[in-house]
Amino acid sequence: MPSELLTDRLLRSWLRCKRRAWLDRHGPLQRRQWSAHRALALDEQQRSFQNLLPTRPGHGEAACREGAAGVMGLRLHGRGGADLELQAHPSLLQRLPGQSRWGDYAYRPVLARQGRRLTREHRLQLALWGRLLAEHQQAPVPEALVVAGGDRRLERETLQLTAGLQRQLDESLERLAQDLTRTEPPPLVNDRKKCTLCSWRTLCDETAAAEGHLSEVSGVGGKRRDLLLELGVRSLAELAMAEPAQLADALAVHGEQHREVAAQLVAQAQVQAGGEPRRRSADGTPAARGAAWSAALPELAKAPGVLLYDIESDPDARDDFLHGFLRLERDAEGRWPAGPLPLSGPGAGYYQPLLALYEHGEARLWQRLARLLAAYPDWPVLHYGETESVGLLRLAERQGATEAERARLRARLIDVHQRLRRHWLLPVNSYGLKAVAGWRGFRWSQSGVDGARCLLWWRQWRQGGRQRRRGRLQLGRIFLYNRDDCRATWMVAHWLLEQEHS
Ligand code: SF4
Repeated sequence: MPSELLTDRLLRSWLRCKRRAWLDRHGPLQRRQWSAHRALALDEQQRSFQNLLPTRPGHGEAACREGAAGVMGLRLHGRGGADLELQAHPSLLQRLPGQSRWGDYAYRPVLARQGRRLTREHRLQLALWGRLLAEHQQAPVPEALVVAGGDRRLERETLQLTAGLQRQLDESLERLAQDLTRTEPPPLVNDRKKCTLCSWRTLCDETAAAEGHLSEVSGVGGKRRDLLLELGVRSLAELAMAEPAQLADALAVHGEQHREVAAQLVAQAQVQAGGEPRRRSADGTPAARGAAWSAALPELAKAPGVLLYDIESDPDARDDFLHGFLRLERDAEGRWPAGPLPLSGPGAGYYQPLLALYEHGEARLWQRLARLLAAYPDWPVLHYGETESVGLLRLAERQGATEAERARLRARLIDVHQRLRRHWLLPVNSYGLKAVAGWRGFRWSQSGVDGARCLLWWRQWRQGGRQRRRGRLQLGRIFLYNRDDCRATWMVAHWLLEQEHS
């Protein structure tokens, strides 16, 4: 029987989700999607390594022979028992004093950490790199280095590659090899938040929808799904048929908070199963037909226009780098333009992007924002989610706006997402802007673009691309993406307004 080839990438995939490793080996490659998250991680890694090393790292075996301070691109091979062939490609090796087959120095592996903490995934990957490197350099590798922080203050952490860690690695490799021999893919990961960064997401979304997987019900995360499975509720359809009071009692054993949401989960599953939106009562369940209801956006009743507002951020750098506004007025007859808004011509609105550049300082940004907001004093500012209101109000506070000024600003800011959730149950598996506007038929102008891609363009533009034609194109694409988010927000807000007259 030929031996199974296991790589460090496969191990990393498996530690994130068993199905992912299986798809990496056996899945249809044409369904695998490029993800900007990986490019962002590589960009961050490069900046961490530049910060760590005095010179550019060398490449491969030749650089090891020369004793370069850092080495990239070295492929390592080895065996894990009789049936396993191992292969790894460490991100970076760092030279240390010691003895190896190359001379009076040796190397240790370095990993650029994503996220705030060192995880099992990081530890086992480093254990594999350490084991194969020890064989290759003919010298022990007792420790590895973990760095994080990109071009901010570099964090360093040493990890001891203990015998216990090597045992865990052996067990994991064995289980990974077994999982790869399955003829069917392992089930979807329990906590589907992990899927956001996965290149198999679209394929798995289709599977989840076709199966009526419980994770398809908005509000059911990994933990709640476990509890529902324990109670014998295995699918969206079964949740939709559950008796809310009974489910509430059964779930309350695990905490009163579950009792409170039971009726809402059943209602949400029913709406998704039925495919029709329903007005929501105060307790989150569908309102009775004919029951009294209040308008979701009463502030727009007399407003002459609205400012649609969307921020693009770099969360790691805590940098809101773009504040985009789309100004939209009623037409001559006092009607609001219906969505989807065109990108030009009558009813397109006027898009104004305000870039927040470090070199201009926050005070100047606040002046520009305050001037724009002051020019349209009676216009509500519509945004989707709390990022915009939190970001803008904190900025106002830092820039010395008085309590009264901030209260006026707060009163103008309207979170369309919050209003939607308060008033409606929708047949969508997420109340995020993409899912809700998509349900209304909105299509983003650039396919395959998301916030991560936008952030990647922004970082590339900021790192010197701004003079070049490509940089200008990237900036244009960021603006278009941001403008589309404003248009999508309007699509949802306009649907809410239409319901007031239906
Ligand atoms: S999309 Fe989710 S379930 Fe599918 S392979 Fe990726 S992490 Fe696993």
